[in-house]
Amino acid sequence: MLGLMQQWPLLCHKILDHAARQHGGREIVSRSVEGPIVRTTYAQLRHRALRVAQRLARDGFERGDRIATLGWNTARHMEAWYGAMGMGGVYHTLNPRLFPDQIGWIMNHAEDKCLFVDLTFMPIVEKIAPNVASLQKIIVMSDAAHMPDTALPNVVAYEEWLAEADGDFEWCALEENEAAGMCYTSGTTGEPKGVVYSHRSNVLHAMMACMPDAMGLSSRDVVLPVVPMFHANAWGLAQSAPMAGAKLVMPGGKMDGASIYELLNTEKVSFTAAVPTVWLMLLQHLEETGKALPYLQRVVIGGSACPRAMAETFEKNYGVEVIHAWGMTEMSPLGSLASFKPDYADLEGEARFDIKQKQGHAPFGVEMKVTDDENRELPWDGKTFGRLKVRGPAVAASYYGGAGAEQFDDEGWFDTGDVAHIDPHGYMQITDRAKDVIKSGGEWISTIDLENLAVGHPDIAEAAVIGVAHPKWDERPLLVVVAKPGKEPRKEEILEYMSGKCAKWWLPDDVAFVEEIPHTATGKIQKTALRDQFRDYRLPMG
Ligand code: AMP
Repeated sequence: MLGLMQQWPLLCHKILDHAARQHGGREIVSRSVEGPIVRTTYAQLRHRALRVAQRLARDGFERGDRIATLGWNTARHMEAWYGAMGMGGVYHTLNPRLFPDQIGWIMNHAEDKCLFVDLTFMPIVEKIAPNVASLQKIIVMSDAAHMPDTALPNVVAYEEWLAEADGDFEWCALEENEAAGMCYTSGTTGEPKGVVYSHRSNVLHAMMACMPDAMGLSSRDVVLPVVPMFHANAWGLAQSAPMAGAKLVMPGGKMDGASIYELLNTEKVSFTAAVPTVWLMLLQHLEETGKALPYLQRVVIGGSACPRAMAETFEKNYGVEVIHAWGMTEMSPLGSLASFKPDYADLEGEARFDIKQKQGHAPFGVEMKVTDDENRELPWDGKTFGRLKVRGPAVAASYYGGAGAEQFDDEGWFDTGDVAHIDPHGYMQITDRAKDVIKSGGEWISTIDLENLAVGHPDIAEAAVIGVAHPKWDERPLLVVVAKPGKEPRKEEILEYMSGKCAKWWLPDDVAFVEEIPHTATGKIQKTALRDQFRDYRLPMG
């Protein structure tokens, strides 16, 4: 017997229809690439997205065509996304922090036909566009007055191009399982792999993100996605914020502490999200200027592990609740969030931060398990770690073009490549990337745990731990440290600080001081580069 309910396909443009109708006057405030702050509303954004869709269709772009974007978080970028999806196209976010050759490779692989680009990134496009055979049109997200000189063919100014459409257009009638968007994984090893989101997966993911124990978004929130739209869909915020009717504040290209602080304060932001490196800059700015965060209530920190000291500073010094989250491009990206279940709600002091060190529990729509190398499921005891596997309606079922097939099994589980344990209350904690974990004398040492410990030292700004070859133990941990400005912590002092806080045999064998730790295009510590840098490093033998 079939249910007798309506077929109402889960399509992304319905999010915008809803936002425009129910929360039409709610603002989207952008720091524009040209400089000034620009204000629009959901009603206006929907109308302009309809014009984008109409104009793309008039240019001959068709259902299924990949429409790339190379842009900062702005209202225009959102219009491009929704316009592309609304005419049946597939938005494809490109990460400008990758090398131009990599971006070109990705565009060719995805066969992008059209590109929306911010002024900032025109020099990159000048380099790669001639080598992307599929590319037919480049739309510079600015107006005629700001257009750069270029010898590239088929380049138009967004505002002029858009002016030729009146928005009298019907969204394309799509099936909910059709592709809506694409994003390539940051690819720290091997070629980047394409993840293809469907309308259904994006809508379900946005609903999941809004749930109270996830991001808990409401129409009363003012949301600042510092995490870029090109990094795993701005963690879904360009979809979940309009779904909730929250005001959106888009930071454009400026992510330094002072610029983010300015937006947090002048726009009265209640909710924000980004990787730890961004928060490092903001906290440094606050420390230097003695400023406070009177409006901010919640900050989601993910993309890499949130250092304990960061969570403590936000909560104790500024009264901002930290929600540690874990996810992946392949998961749209939310996988887990460390909000408090009743089991932990009454914890106080240090015990609260023990829980916030964990990456959290899965919302409805994410199943997770940890297995050993023989795919046997491991107990949820909070200590036995193994390979973390996930499945759900917003988790990739395969990569574009069939790459990486070994990461997907017959029962629908996706092997995340992360190593984790899960506690009896369902809180997952990442202990490493499978390829970063240090294997010392047959036992595993978690580099993330050691890094978190090290950055708790008051003179350390950033820390990374890598395995270095050792004649007896195979590998031993080396701690690489960036000191805070003006500080010169000593090795003995750091190791003394760490000892007693982790198993004795986990303590790093040595500490190396560097000016800078290399990061990937999505702000993670680039362990491969660091391992290369310290390839010939000799540990002291004692
Ligand atoms: P990306 O697809 O670029 O977002 O990268 C996903 C990967 O980032 C995950 O597989 C993890 O290795 C790492 N990651 C994301 N969030 C966290 C977190 N909160 N703690 C530790 N690692 C994280």
